[in-house]
Amino acid sequence: MVATVLNGRVIARAVRADIAKLAAEDAEVYGAPAGLAILRIGNDPASNVYTEALMRTSAQVGVVARVVELPETVDDDGLRQQIEALNDDPSVQGILTQLPLPPHLSQRTVAETVDPQKDVDGISVRSAGNLFLRLPSFVPSTSAAVMELLDRGGIALSGRRAVVVGASNVVGKPLAYMLLHRDATVTVCHIYTRDLAHWTRQADVLVVAAGKPGLIHGEMIQPGAAVIDVGINVQADGSITGDVAYESAAEVAGAISPVPGGVGQLTNLMLLKQTVLARNLWQFNENA
Ligand code: NAD
Repeated sequence: MVATVLNGRVIARAVRADIAKLAAEDAEVYGAPAGLAILRIGNDPASNVYTEALMRTSAQVGVVARVVELPETVDDDGLRQQIEALNDDPSVQGILTQLPLPPHLSQRTVAETVDPQKDVDGISVRSAGNLFLRLPSFVPSTSAAVMELLDRGGIALSGRRAVVVGASNVVGKPLAYMLLHRDATVTVCHIYTRDLAHWTRQADVLVVAAGKPGLIHGEMIQPGAAVIDVGINVQADGSITGDVAYESAAEVAGAISPVPGGVGQLTNLMLLKQTVLARNLWQFNENA
């Protein structure tokens, strides 16, 4: 079998157009386009590249994004005050804090201070609770990107066996709930899972988010399964590889997402989609 490629670049084009349409409708209803504040602390070059890409994509879909910079030396109180100012700013529908934070700052401060109504990357306790309870919710954008890739690739989920390798708060765990809420039978594997292949071979849908290059290879995959590789691993030569040994996996899988050119193409778009939907989402939650 030669797997169908779930091409993130091609899918991203269609998703971008759909979000632009949603953004235009949202701006019409609320009299102003949705705004995204990107909070950047210090001057990390990798994070600057990411911010520039996000600014470009925001402009393409019609979200007004702006960067708010804080010095590397800012303390927890200063960070909290800045987030509170953005919470109060009516032109801001979404707040994204660039990670990683400098080591003296706590990620918890961000998660506990950001207004749950503006938590478009789904990091707050309230967002996690909404997701757990299957209420309308902001979710971490990488998990949303995986679901979008599966849906746009026409991969059925209801009643099927999904295995998620990786159980982090930002990818594996939210994804497990999102798959469960789409009526898949979900197994979560992690670093302490014994005989990983035993579990991965049972998957109709296998999502791998472990950060271990080559962790999953063809022999660990059920013939015909859909395989989504979330891993982003930077090799010694600077190239990027996923967690799945692509060549051997593609010989067995029915569908597979490459790295680069898979999930990563959709992550920023999912963040922007949630920014565009923010005002509607909370209207729904307040009426629920
Ligand atoms: P993390 O380090 O927080 O969590 C990794 C998870 O994988 C843990 O639950 C751990 O138990 C599990 N794990 C590690 N080694 C394993 C092994 N040998 N067998 C089974 N499970 C194992 O990482 P994360 O933040 O969840 O990210 C996971 C990967 O996804 C990384 O490569 C990261 O770069 C990538 N990522 C990609 C995007 C994107 O947009 N495509 C976004 C975020 C993260």
